[in-house]
Amino acid sequence: MTQRKITIIGSMNMDMVVEAPRFPNGGETIIGNKISFIPGGKGANQAVAVARLGAPTTMIGAVGEDAFGQTLMDSLKETGVDVHYIKQSQTVSTGTASITLVPDENTIVVVPGANHELKADDIEKLESVISESDIILLQLEIPLETVEAAVDVAFKHHKTLILNPAPAQELPTELLKKIDYITPNESELETLTQMNRSEYSLDEMMDELLDKGIRCVITTLGADGVAWKQKDEQVRQISSHQVSVVDTTGAGDAFNGALAYFLSQGNSVEQAVSFANQVSALAVTKFGAQGGMPTLEAVKEYFR
Ligand code: ADP
Repeated sequence: MTQRKITIIGSMNMDMVVEAPRFPNGGETIIGNKISFIPGGKGANQAVAVARLGAPTTMIGAVGEDAFGQTLMDSLKETGVDVHYIKQSQTVSTGTASITLVPDENTIVVVPGANHELKADDIEKLESVISESDIILLQLEIPLETVEAAVDVAFKHHKTLILNPAPAQELPTELLKKIDYITPNESELETLTQMNRSEYSLDEMMDELLDKGIRCVITTLGADGVAWKQKDEQVRQISSHQVSVVDTTGAGDAFNGALAYFLSQGNSVEQAVSFANQVSALAVTKFGAQGGMPTLEAVKEYFR
């Protein structure tokens, strides 16, 4: 069987994680314990998830012409991701997340940087890359106009579109109706629908999105598993796998990458959700978002 291609259009960040005994007060300097530089960004994380599972994977994104940008491109390339179509901005630096970890708490400052330099016309120039892909996987850490352009090009070429609507924002119906699979977590579902979990059932909230024309809504529920619903069908739900959790960062990214991979292999929604539930459970047993993404062999071995 020819391998189905998956293209991820999204963010690439360098996460700078400082571990400190406590947060400094305003104007104060303190000595920290450790700094780590960890490749991240939802787009890149999802690209790594797909590539580890073994599908031909292409990343469309933007970094700065700086050392972080080069490191991010190299690490994707090492995982087997095609990095040819990543834009390098000469004027804006690579996106960063500055994370300060103190015992039991953290603060995060994200500077999108070059991620916001990925423009609608960059996507239009890459129409042939999109038209040669089978599945397009998107998130919301790049400008909405860029996401809209990508959806339009993919829709024109009848490609399967998966939108992971993170970070949460309200989205135009014109965009939503072209999406095949949308994968909010619970709080993203609340933002998308402007409905509250305390007042409405998951079923009602998912219907709100299905009524806009989306083919299937898949809501990830963290340690409670996953629920999904297709038009005119009942809500289905499965529990998460019991694992010893090390780090849940990137659980959703593992889920989305695995979903795209299993759908690309011609599986049903039910099979793809179940597989993604396995992959993301395995991902949370390891430290780091990209570092935790399992290979297909590891998934088969663990769940055999
Ligand atoms: P996000 O990271 O986007 O907030 P979730 O927290 O909903 O996403 O997690 C995505 C998926 O990862 C869940 O649907 C589940 O399959 C898996 N997962 C998350 N947390 C756990 C956990 N503690 N144990 C097992 N699986 C988990």
